[in-house]
Amino acid sequence: MPFSFDTTYKSVDSSLYSRVTPKRIANPKVLLLNDRLCADLGLDTAELNANVLAGQNLLEEPIAQAYAGHQYGSFTVLGDGRAMILGEHVHDGNRYDIQLKGSGRTPYSRRGDGNATVSSMLREFLYSHAMQNLNIKTSRSLAVVETDEAVRRRRTEPGAILVRVMNSHIRYGTFQYVAGQGPDELQRFTDYVIDRHYPQLNETDRTYLEFFDAVMQSSIEMVVDWLRVGFIHGVMNTDNMSVNGETFDYGPCAFMNYYDEETVFSSIDTHGRYAFGNQQRILQWNLERFAEALQPLCKQSALTHDELKGKLDEFENRFAVQYYTMMRKKLGINSDAEKELVDEFLEWLRKSNADYTNTFLELEAPGRFDDPVFATAEFERLREKLAAVGLEEEVMQDANPRYIPRNYLVEKALDEYLEAGDLSTFEELLTVLENPYTARDMGSQFQQPPRREFDAAYTTYCNT
Ligand code: AMP
Ligand code: MG
Repeated sequence: MPFSFDTTYKSVDSSLYSRVTPKRIANPKVLLLNDRLCADLGLDTAELNANVLAGQNLLEEPIAQAYAGHQYGSFTVLGDGRAMILGEHVHDGNRYDIQLKGSGRTPYSRRGDGNATVSSMLREFLYSHAMQNLNIKTSRSLAVVETDEAVRRRRTEPGAILVRVMNSHIRYGTFQYVAGQGPDELQRFTDYVIDRHYPQLNETDRTYLEFFDAVMQSSIEMVVDWLRVGFIHGVMNTDNMSVNGETFDYGPCAFMNYYDEETVFSSIDTHGRYAFGNQQRILQWNLERFAEALQPLCKQSALTHDELKGKLDEFENRFAVQYYTMMRKKLGINSDAEKELVDEFLEWLRKSNADYTNTFLELEAPGRFDDPVFATAEFERLREKLAAVGLEEEVMQDANPRYIPRNYLVEKALDEYLEAGDLSTFEELLTVLENPYTARDMGSQFQQPPRREFDAAYTTYCNT
């Protein structure tokens, strides 16, 4: 038996999911298998052949989840349009959704084809791998399986299925959907989610309020981690926000190179709603929508509107505390003072437009990068000021990656696969990103930011 399934989601209200069957695939081909994840899940790689990974040998009936969400600010009823949960795998007392993405149409597909392209699934594999190794809570990718179909997008490509693993795929949007089913359904579902993700809260006497608090806290920690490494999620719709603080749905995401809070790469984000520096504000907005979805619980329990509002009012302060704690670590400051100096540094970053990742490496050990921005008197003065109170190497090392997935390198690796069937550059990138905090001999080319013109023109896409 490849997986040990115990799928508790089948016990929630039947309106919250549909039973589905993955599409037939004549010749599935495993392109990538994540050995480390197999080990973490207690899986035997010998049992994970292409048919198992592509959902062609089923252990039980898969499900697609129903959910709703605010997409770019507008409420829509949605669901897994191209994803299916094979089952919940239990290992060492932990539960994991094993989900296929790109496995065909479901009752929630609307006009979509249920498919995914191989380049977008390779891309998700790489970003989730990078985020995991950057020590950020994330969905993980067990495998990419290429299918024998041609999928038409901007270009026509082979199709693929990504096997995605998360503690659960329950999102703010799931609550928005359940809230529409009635207060009793909402209460039962909330109890289910608390048992699954926050069982310790059952011991408190304000369980629902503490649940909101815990979701808020895990989301704040997640977004502050994004800001730490320069990650832009790109599509922070409420249906892409996990209640467990796991980063997921690597669609138009990308890493920022040159520091600019307005950085946006997504082709459809024309107003910069999901820009790098807007992610805090959008998280706050999303949490307000999540709190609205929980409102009916006020009729069912001791929870009150004022209490929920009180928690939302704490957001800015709590985010700032988390953010400055993170920034101090990046600057090697071992105290909770020096806020003004951190602000001065941020002001320099905004003005100089320096490469975000390399700036911290240069502060730690000057002379690493031959970039004129680090040769200015202003940078030198700032470094001296920081050195007087911070720049402690040990503190800095765990906060500042040496390697991030540089967008132009990711694209080059994907192009080489699409054009020549060659995965070697892609695999080299995976290797470098295996230990992103550790210097490597072969590393310097991976630390190079792109040409500014490349960055300015770089575009990423949704639903590919
Ligand atoms: P996303 O913005 O990627 O989270 O996707 C938003 C919604 O569109 C989700 O409900 C997806 O399941 C659905 N979707 C995206 N691409 C497709 C596709 N090719 N076929 C069917 N549904 C899709
Ligand atoms: Mg999504």
